[in-house]
Amino acid sequence: MNLVNFKHDTDADGILTLVWDMPGKPMNVLDQSLMNELDAIVDHVIADAAIKGVVLTSGKDAFCAGADLTMMEGAGKEFAAAVKARGQEAAMKEFMAQAGAGSRVFRRIETCGKPWAAAINGVALGGGFEITLACHYRVIADNAKAQVGLPEVKVGLFPGAGGTQRIPRLMATPDALQFLFKGESWKPAKAKQMNLVHEVAPEGEIVARAKAWIKGGGKAVAPWDEKNFKMPSGKIFSPIGMMVWPPANAIYRKETYDNYPAVKAILKCVYEGLQLPIDQALTVETRYFAQIMRSKEAAAMIRSLFLSMGELNKGARRPKSEPKTTLKKIGVIGAGFMGAGIAYVTAMAGAEVVLVDRDQAAADKGKAHSDALISARVAKGRATAEQKEALLARITPTADYGDLKGCDLVVEAVFEDRGVKAETTKKAQAVLGADIVFASNTSTLPITSLATEAQKPENFIGIHFFSPVDKMMLVEIIMGERTGDKALATALDFVRLIKKTPIVVNDTRGFFANRCVGRYVAEGHLMLMEGVPPAMIENVARMAGMPVGPLSLNDEVAIDLSWKIVQATKKDLGEQAVDPAQEKLIKTMVVDHERFGRKNGKGFYDYPQGGKKKLWPGLSTLAGKALDPDTIDVEELKQRFLVVQAVEAARTMAEGVVTDPREADVGSILGFGFAPFTGGAISYIDFMGTKAFVELCDRLTAKYGDRFVPPALLRDMAKTGETFYAKFAPKKAA
Ligand code: NAD
Repeated sequence: MNLVNFKHDTDADGILTLVWDMPGKPMNVLDQSLMNELDAIVDHVIADAAIKGVVLTSGKDAFCAGADLTMMEGAGKEFAAAVKARGQEAAMKEFMAQAGAGSRVFRRIETCGKPWAAAINGVALGGGFEITLACHYRVIADNAKAQVGLPEVKVGLFPGAGGTQRIPRLMATPDALQFLFKGESWKPAKAKQMNLVHEVAPEGEIVARAKAWIKGGGKAVAPWDEKNFKMPSGKIFSPIGMMVWPPANAIYRKETYDNYPAVKAILKCVYEGLQLPIDQALTVETRYFAQIMRSKEAAAMIRSLFLSMGELNKGARRPKSEPKTTLKKIGVIGAGFMGAGIAYVTAMAGAEVVLVDRDQAAADKGKAHSDALISARVAKGRATAEQKEALLARITPTADYGDLKGCDLVVEAVFEDRGVKAETTKKAQAVLGADIVFASNTSTLPITSLATEAQKPENFIGIHFFSPVDKMMLVEIIMGERTGDKALATALDFVRLIKKTPIVVNDTRGFFANRCVGRYVAEGHLMLMEGVPPAMIENVARMAGMPVGPLSLNDEVAIDLSWKIVQATKKDLGEQAVDPAQEKLIKTMVVDHERFGRKNGKGFYDYPQGGKKKLWPGLSTLAGKALDPDTIDVEELKQRFLVVQAVEAARTMAEGVVTDPREADVGSILGFGFAPFTGGAISYIDFMGTKAFVELCDRLTAKYGDRFVPPALLRDMAKTGETFYAKFAPKKAA
């Protein structure tokens, strides 16, 4: 055989070992060339009587990370073009054939009459795991990197190459549905416990074990092709089945609010497929897969959550002219809430951290945060005692700015006070000189004005983290007017080092994320003052796709902080910048009732000790009126929540605060959980169509006020239906 994607060898026992190792690619992926080659291999295996069985393994670090998603993103558009060119029926046939290509080849492996064993040496995800599910035996390496999973739902797809059929034939239906819904990945021990693999073995032995299974008479028949095969949870129409399916539907709705067609398709595939023999079941899966591949949710999620995020992580915005930096030692000034978190993620990434605060006790307290976080990981078995020790050894808490000597970058997270920040900058520069890149984690002070305290403003930049720092994946890099390329490159290299996703924004009030999410919270306030029942506000926000309701969110961030922001906004931008109804609500909460949020146990919710939080009953009296929920248009409430944020995102692009739609989209999902199925705040507009979006804005403006007025740029774009992704065509990754 002359193969491109596999190295191969047949041993004296007639076992063909295929080492999957695609040339020129860092990872094995499933693409058309691979499918064609596999098809030919199966033909060869069937035809060559000397071949007794096949072992499939990988020559790369990972086994396979799944299908090539760049191909999938454009599926909907390609289909539309094919319909235009060749008509609906022909296009549909072609599309089904394409959507089912993987499933068909994998089924051929399963039914070729000779035993196939997969030796999984590392990560096997998506289609990369599905191919092993079609093998008759799976042995996985007992190493830290190996895991199996079907994460397709995370990008709006589902496992369409047999995953929805083989998984529920291997484990109980509730477990299978959970595994498929969540898109989780499991390590070897769990995979074995859940019947997903047959054997866990030392990495160096997996191929030998796979061969031993074949030599020992390994059967070339999948369990579900055996005559007496019984489903792990029995038949759908059985007493057990009846206990599984009604709650499964309810869980689906609770988790997705029906916003994720791929998750619904999983439910349908499993429900319908389990009532059919495997071949028909696979056809059912392919039908749904063809539908989901063309969905706008899949296109939007693949673009933002896979392609764009990958490009931003790889440094799409990094100035190419700047040489790579070496960031070995980072100074973090201010060991409070944020500084302690920044120190932890930096030390986790392997860098030395000098953690400075006003006195030794405060600095030590900041380091204790890292101790608490890593200790929790050790307790859960996610880190070893040695790793904990090494991590803590990398953090030097100190009150002496002199210890910053040798740092490659300084990140400041001291009090939000211009004077304190200026003093910090000066003291750090006295030790490190003018050429050090100095970053501020300020959330409200303009970077341009803080930079005037630096000896070289071009080396001053904003690196804005979100809390909690160890969990939130987004970091906003803020460019002051004079920030230079070296500072930008250094900041991006730092964010890459700590494995977070950066977006680069120009200096403006609220930067990007806080500006948009502020609109979301304010919309909740205004609904409350209109008399919308508080529980309805919270629930409808989640139905719209937001992870938490606006009132809950405000409680977490603190309502007294909102009160400060309202006052600062009025001072800086004038009275008209704040809606009087919103101001009245916040003032009543904070000034009259001292309800500051979760932090003092009293906010929009009450937080009884040891009990579940409950909406504060006093809320209903604040509006002075209560609408009958049956008269409220739920769809319109949902639209208001998303449109008010999206129109603000559009304004940031119109003003040049954000210059790349990928950053607005990824930033909105990672920064404040903007309904992920839309692909983000800008994709929400683009997929709706700029014309339809502007019409919707006009309708909402007429009813609810100027906060829905679209920027002139968007109105212009709507005239021709131009999209943001066309107008601001993203720059390609470096
Ligand atoms: P914090 O009050 O918890 O911590 C500030 C720390 O700075 C304290 O430990 C204090 O002792 C220390 N400090 C003050 N003056 C100092 C000096 N001269 N030298 C060294 N240390 C000094 O505040 P925080 O919530 O961590 O916020 C810090 C910064 O991060 C602020 O600029 C804030 O706007 C920004 N920020 C906060 C959040 C958030 O959610 N809290 C989110 C993003 C950004």
